[in-house]
Amino acid sequence: MEYRINRRTGDKISVIGLGASSISQAGEKEGIETLQMAFDNGINYFDVAGGDAKCFPYYGEAFESVRDKVMYQIHFGANYETGNYGWTTNLDKIKASIKWQLQQLKTDYINYGFIHCIDEESDWNAYQKNGVLDYIKELKEKGIVKHVGISSHTPKLIHKALDTGLIDMVMFSINPAYDYQQGDYANGSVNERMELYKRCEAEGVGISVMKAFSGGQLLDEKTSPFGKALTKMQCIQYALDKPGVLTVLPGIRGKEDLKEVLKFNEASDEEKDYSIISEFTPPEATGKCVYCNHCEPCPMKLDIGLINKYYDLSKAGDVLAKDHYRNLEKTAKDCIQCGHCNTRCPFKVDQMNRMQEIATYFESV
Ligand code: SF4
Ligand code: SF4
Repeated sequence: MEYRINRRTGDKISVIGLGASSISQAGEKEGIETLQMAFDNGINYFDVAGGDAKCFPYYGEAFESVRDKVMYQIHFGANYETGNYGWTTNLDKIKASIKWQLQQLKTDYINYGFIHCIDEESDWNAYQKNGVLDYIKELKEKGIVKHVGISSHTPKLIHKALDTGLIDMVMFSINPAYDYQQGDYANGSVNERMELYKRCEAEGVGISVMKAFSGGQLLDEKTSPFGKALTKMQCIQYALDKPGVLTVLPGIRGKEDLKEVLKFNEASDEEKDYSIISEFTPPEATGKCVYCNHCEPCPMKLDIGLINKYYDLSKAGDVLAKDHYRNLEKTAKDCIQCGHCNTRCPFKVDQMNRMQEIATYFESV
């Protein structure tokens, strides 16, 4: 398992985490065993916004003895009083729900306390007016909430939350469909979405990814907005290539789903190659590097995707990107302008030109 560090918190987070939307379908015995199997395979990051109340004790049972080795995203606003998932900004209900969730999870602290599902300006206002944000801050002061996060499908509202300086983790819906303006949660333009990823990376705020398969739609050619199916491996790699992303959180229904997701760790570069999406690239995204490395191998052994990512991040204000770039064994200066990448890039990036631009840029910063 690969791990990435949340720079604001120092937490070492597995690139594959798990969502909780479907785990109840496994039933208690398999649900607990599935979670233990996930932990045994290196998964240490769990979002617990369950589809219903039944799954919470599974986590309590599976992880009580290893609580300090797993991290929970717990949502202030997810309400299970009916037995099913509900959403609220009512402070008393949220307090009761958090108390209940902690009991079920057999824990007395929250790794990441999430401002839950803010998709409208009014949700964000209600969160502040009703005292929910102050409640999270109060729990943070008491050490019950270690870090604060926000889940949302809407870039402009995430920016507002980031402006508070409170946020250490963002849960956001990332997949090629949404990024290319297809689907129910394709909020924000191509550029707005990319600007959000870059801001998170620049400020050291991690992103945990929900809906990496667009609710399963991308996995079936009949429902894929592109008319072609992608694989889970391609979708996971796509999300992990975005700046700021630390972990992808697929929802699983039991051991078989988990085994399938874990195949990512063994998958070949070909299996994870998602360059097929270049066939669907909207005009505003054409010619922009998505860091996929489909254009490799470079005869000079340049990591083309990473060099481009550091360049974009540095220009977006990420002060660390310059040092990361300079520490690379090979940089844009080593490009011999052979043109191989230009012929291979399915996204029509003029990479030869870009390498010259990047070399000049890093000489002057
Ligand atoms: S130049 Fe094209 S193929 Fe190479 S990393 Fe960028 S987008 Fe991918
Ligand atoms: S043009 Fe430069 S970056 Fe592209 S493959 Fe050739 S040497 Fe590598």
